[in-house]
Order: sequence, then C-alpha cells, then structure tokens
Amino acid sequence: MLTINNVEVMYDKVILVLKGMSMVVPKGKIVALLGSNGAGKTTTLKAISGLLKSENGEVTDGFIELYGERIDVSDAETIVKKGIFQCMEGRRVFKHLSVEDNLIAGAHTRKDRKNIKSDIQKVYHYFPKLEMLKHRQAGYLSGGEQQMLAIGRGIMAKPKVLLLDEPSLGLAPLLVKEIFGIIKKINEEEGTTILVVEQNANVALSIADYGYIMENGRIVMDGTVDRLLSNQDVREFYLGMG
Ligand code: ATP
Repeated sequence: MLTINNVEVMYDKVILVLKGMSMVVPKGKIVALLGSNGAGKTTTLKAISGLLKSENGEVTDGFIELYGERIDVSDAETIVKKGIFQCMEGRRVFKHLSVEDNLIAGAHTRKDRKNIKSDIQKVYHYFPKLEMLKHRQAGYLSGGEQQMLAIGRGIMAKPKVLLLDEPSLGLAPLLVKEIFGIIKKINEEEGTTILVVEQNANVALSIADYGYIMENGRIVMDGTVDRLLSNQDVREFYLGMG
C-alpha cells in the first residue's frame, strides 16, 4: 500500500543521500527499516512524510505512492491528511503543555472532532501510565514517558500508516520491550500499518513481519523476519550474534 520506488534524495541540491531507495510497506503489517548510522533511514521517513522540504531536502528522482496515489509531490500537512503520521521523537513533545493537552493537540489535523474524548481513553488503554500523569507538564516526564506520549499523539491522529523513528533511543532495555509490545498491540487492535526505523535490530525484528536493511542510501537486503534471522551476515553485523 505504501511504496517507495527508486527514490533519490538530495540535501542542499548537492548532497545525495538516498541513491535509489525502494521498499514496500503492505497494509496492516509492521515493517522494520534497519541499518547503521547515516545509512539514510531517517531521510527515508522524512521523504515519506514530506518533512524533507523544511530541511532543504528534496526527492530528485523516483516516486512514493500511498494506495497508488503519488504523495512525494504533496506537502507535509496534506500527507498527514492522507493518513501518514510520523511520530516525533519523545523529546519533541510540547514541554509546557500537560500530557492530555499534548494528546488533544495530536488530533488537530482530524476532521472527526467528536471522537477525540474516546480516543484519549484509547491512548490511556495502551499507556495506563499516561493516564496517571495526564495533568503533568510533558517537560517533567521521563524519557520513556515522553516517548509514550509521542506515540500516543500518533494514535490521536488516527493514521493509516504510522512512521516511528528509533522509538528505543536512549531507553532502558525493559522499557524498550514494553514500548515495542505496545506498538505491536496498536498494530493488532487498530490495524495501523507501521514502518519503524531502528538501530536496535533485535527488538524491531521481534515485532515486525518484514525487514529491510539499508546501507549508504539504498536497500541491501530484505526479507521476512525468519529469513533475516537465519542469515549469517545479518546475525553477525546487525544482531550481534555469531
Ligand atoms: P541515524 O541513525 O544516525 O539517524 P540514518 O540512517 O537515519 O542515521 P540519516 O539521518 O537519514 O541517516 O542521514 C543520512 C545522511 O544524510 C547522513 O550522512 C547525514 O549527514 C545526511 N543528512 C541528514 N540530514 C541532513 C540535512 N538536513 N542536510 C544535509 N545532510 C543531511
């Protein structure tokens, strides 16, 4: 349903970062995009969500489609309205607003305003901790709680496709496990399609249906999770196993 076809991305009209990037994210699935630092994973997410333009980046070749409709020509606001939402890093929630007001703000692009209350309850169902903290200013939350809030804001936008950029970043292993468990639950209960970028390949593959590995601006390997887990190179270079 979401397809990236041979996409090239340049920053500042000279720095070529994506060099023929192609991948498919099927409806209702969780796809993991893995790879080392600087491979172009974040750039791929920004190309999809239209956020490249604010960083002087552009898609210079190839195209991106959602349900067969080109979206690489649209601006970020339009892409959100079409149903693709990129979760901000946890550290980028509105620090001076309460947890609940952050959630309400997450719904601002929606047309159906009347279900906002029940969707806030839905977020609390996935993240009971956020309900306990609902009146707290977001700036006082721990890193893990802010990450939960960032994902909660994603739920409020009711996207068809949720893009997550390194949800494990800076979090203790137990919390990473908890958050990935919740991501899986959102996928199963809401039917939300999820594309998750991760350097922590082990945890991403533990919930994904399919994985892509990216190096130097393009995909170098892809497959079902079983296939990737049984590949010796993947085990050695990305999973830290012998
Ligand atoms: P990381 O895990 O470190 O975030 P990544 O795989 O997500 O890595 P990107 O953040 O997409 O990689 O970066 C890919 C390359 O593009 C890097 O060499 C980076 O320096 C460059 N880059 C990223 N953003 C910009 C920008 N706004 N202007 C110029 N170059 C950029």
